Amino acid sequence: MTTQRTVLVTGGNRGIGRAIAEEFIANGHRVAVTVRNGEGPAGALSVKADVTDAASLDAAFAEVEEKLGPIEVLVANAGITRDTLLMRMTDEDFEEVINTNLNGVFRVLKRATKGMIKVRFGRVILIGSVVGLLGSAGQVNYSAAKSALVGMARSVTRELGARGITANVVAPGFIDTDMTSELPEAQQEDYKRRIPAGRFAAPSEVAKVVAWLAGDDAAYISGAVIPVDGGLGMGH
Ligand code: NDP
Repeated sequence: MTTQRTVLVTGGNRGIGRAIAEEFIANGHRVAVTVRNGEGPAGALSVKADVTDAASLDAAFAEVEEKLGPIEVLVANAGITRDTLLMRMTDEDFEEVINTNLNGVFRVLKRATKGMIKVRFGRVILIGSVVGLLGSAGQVNYSAAKSALVGMARSVTRELGARGITANVVAPGFIDTDMTSELPEAQQEDYKRRIPAGRFAAPSEVAKVVAWLAGDDAAYISGAVIPVDGGLGMGH
């Protein structure tokens, strides 16, 4: 049994974030999730926050730390897509995705690592994407933000590695959530043909990898990009 930790997952009301929160709860950890609407799973402390709004994060972190103690495991999961080809992509499409998927991760990372340094333990897990390194037509904004998380995790590893803190990127391929169900059926079928595993994954398949990475057995893994993609991104 791994040591019980205080865990914060951003975007824990649905999709992959919710599955990650459920996995940590099932493993007996103290779990908080940020939500903009709705609630996280039963057993989680749900705190309202938007990763683009610094003041809302200050309040959320204060509440989590007061109720559950310093955050030892951060899972930066909240993310959006605004897919369109470069020629049609507006400045707003680009900036909105960067502000949520990259700047938003920085905002939570900065707040979480403060406490991790104090307790000399931390697991930073950034939810990237296979397209961060593979690239993706229609996702110049999204893939740029996701690839930036690799540099972020590796820089955190260099800065804080000696203080008991690891930082890694988990890079999912196609996972069955609202994000992928919005894709046209024909596009989903095309992707399935290109994935060696021949299928999309369930959110729980990402959650189990995240939970393992946060556990005692993964203490010597840092600065890594861990694919959960059925082989789609092999070699990247
Ligand atoms: P969903 O669209 O199902 O859920 C996204 C989550 O992020 C929701 O909880 C949403 O909250 C939250 N969120 C979005 N914007 C903000 C914000 N500004 N502040 C706070 N929370 C926000 O996505 P998935 O579960 O599929 O994706 C989760 C992560 O995994 C994302 O980072 C995504 O890029 C990544 N990923 C997903 C893949 C997939 O195939 N599904 C593949 C690779 C990576 P709300 O409900 O309020 O909108």
